[in-house]
Amino acid sequence: MTRLILLGPPGAGKGTQAKRLASSLGVPQLSTGDMLRAEVAAGSPLGKKVKAVMDAGKLVSDDILIDLIGHRIDQPDCRKGFILDGFPRSLPQAEALDRMLADRKLKIDRVIEMAVQDDALVERITGRFTCAKCGAGYHDKFQRPKRDGVCDQCGGAQFTRRADDNEQAVRTRLAAYHAQTAPLLPYYRGRGVLATVDGMAAIDDVTRQMSRVVATVGAA
Ligand code: ADP
Ligand code: ADP
Ligand code: ZN
Repeated sequence: MTRLILLGPPGAGKGTQAKRLASSLGVPQLSTGDMLRAEVAAGSPLGKKVKAVMDAGKLVSDDILIDLIGHRIDQPDCRKGFILDGFPRSLPQAEALDRMLADRKLKIDRVIEMAVQDDALVERITGRFTCAKCGAGYHDKFQRPKRDGVCDQCGGAQFTRRADDNEQAVRTRLAAYHAQTAPLLPYYRGRGVLATVDGMAAIDDVTRQMSRVVATVGAA
């Protein structure tokens, strides 16, 4: 039973590490960015409402996110735990999450901060691409598929790049992170659940650091 929050600026490696932890722990990755992009791709009323805000790199309103996650954590696959990737992103969201969990007599075990310097993030984000079929994440320089143009995980040959992975939207997202999300660090530190890993390290090294943090869950 492990309930984790991954906290870090856009491009820190949350999605990359959340997928690895999800498969090693056997719990789902709850990526609010992926959930919102699925709504946009489906052209749903919610998707239509949030598309412009996401493309600009601004945060979608707290009400929408709280509603989205509130329904998601009640799904049966979350009974064994979950890894939150991209939520909460503001103090009102963190407080709402605390209330939701308290109502269900649950709690967050660890909040893992992935610390990465701002200047590394733009390069990470502008080089990011994803397998269109299975969602595996790649990078032009740091995480190329073993065979060019072929997904390691599923053999797919189509890849996508996000509409908001351009330098201007990244700058807006970084500003939103510093203004609205960074205040969550002292919030969770005060609750004694915050751990920090060096997100500047190589991908496998970051995975090892995160596994060490997770291994402390449940320890006295
Ligand atoms: P990244 O992986 O680059 O950090 P995400 O995929 O998590 O980005 O989020 C993409 C966009 O989706 C955000 O810029 C924002 O518009 C919206 N979004 C995702 N999660 C939240 C959230 N918890 N609160 C508000 N907006 C969110
Ligand atoms: P986030 O979900 O925090 O926005 P991602 O996991 O999507 O970040 O990572 C952003 C990009 O950087 C991806 O293209 C990914 O392959 C690459 N990346 C992730 N972790 C590292 C790392 N430790 N070193 C170098 N590149 C990384
Ligand atoms: Zn794939």
